[in-house]
Amino acid sequence: MNIGLFGGSFDPIHRGHLTLAQAAADRFALRQVLFVPANVPPHKQKQPVTAFVHRYAMVTLATQDDKRWMPSLLEAGELGSGGGVAQTANYSIDTVRRLKQTLKKADRLFFLIGVDAFKDIAKWREARALLAECEFIVASRPGFSLRDVAESLPEGLRPPAAVTKPFQKQTATGDLVLPGVTLHLLDGVQQNVSATTIRAAAAQGRPLAKWLDPRVAEYVRKMGLYRKGARGGG
Ligand code: ATP
Repeated sequence: MNIGLFGGSFDPIHRGHLTLAQAAADRFALRQVLFVPANVPPHKQKQPVTAFVHRYAMVTLATQDDKRWMPSLLEAGELGSGGGVAQTANYSIDTVRRLKQTLKKADRLFFLIGVDAFKDIAKWREARALLAECEFIVASRPGFSLRDVAESLPEGLRPPAAVTKPFQKQTATGDLVLPGVTLHLLDGVQQNVSATTIRAAAAQGRPLAKWLDPRVAEYVRKMGLYRKGARGGG
C-alpha cells in the first residue's frame, strides 16, 4: 500500500495543504495520507506557534471528508501516549523511522513536501538518511520554482547537470532517481495561500472562508485564534 506522510505546522491547515495532498494522492495512488502536525516546544520556537491541541483539532476537522486523510499524533510525543506535551523537538528522520516500524514490507512510503520547505532539506537533521528512508514528492508552490529542487540536495547527493537538464524546464515535472534519493516532482499545485497570510487576515478580522475548510474557519472564530492579543499557547 502507498502511504503519504505530510508534516507541517498546520497553523492553520489550509487549502494549499489539502490541494497538495489531493494531487499527490491522486498521482501516486496513496491509500492514506498522514497529516502530522509538528509539536514545536516553546523553547524551540523562533516565533510563537499556536498550541498543538488547536492545530491538531483543525487538522482533524479538515481531514474528515476524505477517507484517505488521517490526522496523526506521530509528533505529539507524550501527548500521543496519554501524558503531557513533548518538550523535545521532533525531527522528521525520527518520525519516519517510527512510522516505518509500523508499516508492512510491501508498503511504500512517500514524504510529501512543498518546494519552499524542500529547499532547506540539506540543513535538516540526518538529511541524507532521511532521503534514503522514503521517496519524496516535492510539490510546486506559487512563487517557488521546481527547477532547482536537485540543487537543494545535500552535497554529495547532487546529480551532475546533465542528469537534471530535463527538469530545468519552467514546468518541471517527472521523477529524479539517484543513488540514495528518489524525488517525484509534482507540478500544478497552484494555491496561492500561506498560513502566515491567514493569521494576518484573522488578526484584522477579515473573512477566512476562501482559504479554509468551513469547519476550520468556524473553529478559528470560536476559539479566537490569531486575534490580536491572542497567544494561542494555552
Ligand atoms: P507558514 O506561512 O506559517 O510558514 P505554511 O503555509 O507554509 O505556513 P506549513 O504548515 O509550514 O504551511 O507547511 C507544511 C507543508 O505544506 C510544507 O511542506 C509546505 O511547503 C507545504 N505548503 C504550505 N502551503 C502550501 C501551498 N500553498 N502550496 C503548496 N504547498 C504548500
